[in-house]
Amino acid sequence: MRVRTGRAAPPVLLVHAGAWAIPEEEREAHASGVRAALAEGFAVLERGGSALDAVETAVAVMEDDPALNAGTGAVLDRDGEAVLDAGVMDGNSLRAGAVAAVRTIRNPVRVARRVLEATPHVLLVGRGAERFARREGFTPIVPAALITPRERARLAARRHEAPADTVGAIALDSAGRIAAAGSTGGTLGKIPGRVGDTPQVGAGLYADSGIGGAVATGWGEGVLRVGVCRAAVLLLEAGATPREAAVRPLARILERLSGRAGALVLAADGRFAAAHTTSFLAWGLGDASGAPPSVFLTAESPARASPGADPDRA
Ligand code: ASP
Repeated sequence: MRVRTGRAAPPVLLVHAGAWAIPEEEREAHASGVRAALAEGFAVLERGGSALDAVETAVAVMEDDPALNAGTGAVLDRDGEAVLDAGVMDGNSLRAGAVAAVRTIRNPVRVARRVLEATPHVLLVGRGAERFARREGFTPIVPAALITPRERARLAARRHEAPADTVGAIALDSAGRIAAAGSTGGTLGKIPGRVGDTPQVGAGLYADSGIGGAVATGWGEGVLRVGVCRAAVLLLEAGATPREAAVRPLARILERLSGRAGALVLAADGRFAAAHTTSFLAWGLGDASGAPPSVFLTAESPARASPGADPDRA
């Protein structure tokens, strides 16, 4: 197998908890979900762990957070069920693993990691994915364990702007490896069987060590149709800044499809950008500066706050 490794670099971890019009009363919960994921995920990098371990850890922390749309607390489909998707990609080997439409798995990102490591496939769905998880030693849960009262109420109310607090992470480790991961319950009131961008390589996530990686969130059908994360990494490869690489695919969704989304892009040299066409993007950054992890609800502030940020991000 041919493997590409990036150059040794100070580690960076970016995480997000979704892009949408996060209501005032939910902002603190989103910020604290991001903060907890950064703390645990960045500790992995600090211990010399791999980018793959860091993104898996960060995403699993957010899957367990009932305030976010992944794992426990995921949004419900039209039948009132929480049906989960997750994916992970290793930028060294370009291997990826994903599961979709699963209902009996507490941490789908961990099963996605096993798909990456233990199968020749990229994406397992439904009952096959659940059977694989059991064979790999994951204890099945009853589907109702994922459902929170808040999500039952949301499905009943079906507000115009649906919550989109999907979670994702992208990391660069000190050996130069880039990895990306994401996890979601999809979109509120989705048709049963619908799968969005989050577990799909090229759309919801992409990583190629030595170049960069990306994770996306927001309107999954738009992210899929534009192939946001593959587009972002191709732009980086062609010399675009992380900001351009994040903004251009999102602008295409807005202009051509009138849809909204957000993305995090991380280049192999540690530069990064966050961008969104939604009113909020809950995200944060952990790096080797020694400062506590920074958490933001829009893309505005961090350009100046972090030395790793893309210098032309205004
Ligand atoms: N992109 C996810 C999906 O369409 C939703 C989200 O990001 O919140 O499944």
